[in-house]
Amino acid sequence: MKKLILAGVFLTLSLSAFAQKTLIHAGRLIDVKTKKILSEQTIVIEGDKILSVSAGYQSPGSEDKTVDLKNATVMPGLMDMHVHIESQTSPTRYVDGFRDNEADVAYKALPYAHITLMSGFTTVRDLGGSGVNIALRNAINSGLVVGPRIYTAGKSIAPTGGHADPTNGVRRDLMRDPGPDEGVINGEADARKAVRQAVKFGSDVIKVTATGGVLSVARDGSAPQFQQDELDAVVRTAKDFGIHVAAHAHGDEGMKRAIKAGIHSIEHGTLMTEETMGMMKAAGTWYVPTITAGMSAAEYAKIPGYYPPVVRDKAMQIGAQIQQTFAAAYKKGVKIAFGTDAGVFPHGENFREFLYMTEVGMPNLEAIQSATLNAAQLLGVEDKLGTIEAGKIADIIAVSGNPGEDIKVMKDVIFVMKDGKIFKQ
Ligand SMILES: [Zn+2]
Repeated sequence: MKKLILAGVFLTLSLSAFAQKTLIHAGRLIDVKTKKILSEQTIVIEGDKILSVSAGYQSPGSEDKTVDLKNATVMPGLMDMHVHIESQTSPTRYVDGFRDNEADVAYKALPYAHITLMSGFTTVRDLGGSGVNIALRNAINSGLVVGPRIYTAGKSIAPTGGHADPTNGVRRDLMRDPGPDEGVINGEADARKAVRQAVKFGSDVIKVTATGGVLSVARDGSAPQFQQDELDAVVRTAKDFGIHVAAHAHGDEGMKRAIKAGIHSIEHGTLMTEETMGMMKAAGTWYVPTITAGMSAAEYAKIPGYYPPVVRDKAMQIGAQIQQTFAAAYKKGVKIAFGTDAGVFPHGENFREFLYMTEVGMPNLEAIQSATLNAAQLLGVEDKLGTIEAGKIADIIAVSGNPGEDIKVMKDVIFVMKDGKIFKQ
């Protein structure tokens, strides 16, 4: 027995001494903590972890593999804190909802997950879908499907007729009366049940629609949707499970109620007032702007017939407003994490958010920080993700060009590594 253990120890030691490492030679490396670009660095990766980061181009051992990114800018894998991974905008989207079975939704989601990863987004927070998002997360985690690491809300939670009521705008006899199982709640007991049900189904995070929304077939886009006791019950129940609650919100009153309830992040925040920004700063609430969603919805609204009329009117109004709110919240010092609402526009175009953020005053490297370090903090995984440091998971990407000088190069992702595995080179 002793001999066996010793042999085991020896085998482990010798394996790690000769295990193949990957050396990345980075011409430029973004340190997202200091928002500085370092030149000529070597990152050593073994298995799924970063072993070391050091100055100069270190020579590889005979078993090692070298990745030459001497002409590129290397940075941590990007993290989008607001996507809808299982769906994508289309003029037939509202009708597709009646035709597609779960398996159809799942197959359609595969290229969305794939292109998201290939665009440099190694982690996403998925804020609402049908439940396919949970299965997709599991399939990616087990290596069956290629895609980003997903933290998902499963199905969003709303009151009857709210933004996430799946039967809005449907013929009366098809409308049913969905309950907590489908994320529709009225009252505290329902709120508790919906959260518990979401956790039972496998959600990592809870999403509530604290106000009306743009793309739902419902008249109002910004009024509060929950009473205070309902939001309080959602947040308290989630807290018992140690998970966060994210609140979709366009109108200010809904945001205020969500912040009072102890919400973790405000999504969109379109009509956020100075007072609410102050409340967020005091409470440490995150803001996830999704400017790209507003811009895209306003563009699609100009195409006749793209949205139902009730949606078109809301989309026209809300577009550019988010960018202004983002600019004001940034100036005010609200904590900001990068999020796009990808799915509302084509997946893979997540980089557009960088353009909109920097256009109104956020420095380029701070925008990249919001999509790495800040996003990891929002998720509570900053010990594993968000920076390129020894001991962290090897999620590393590179773009050609220098995003410190020209943010548009975020479009040109030439290298993607997730969990130490190369997916694009
Ligand atoms: Zn969304």
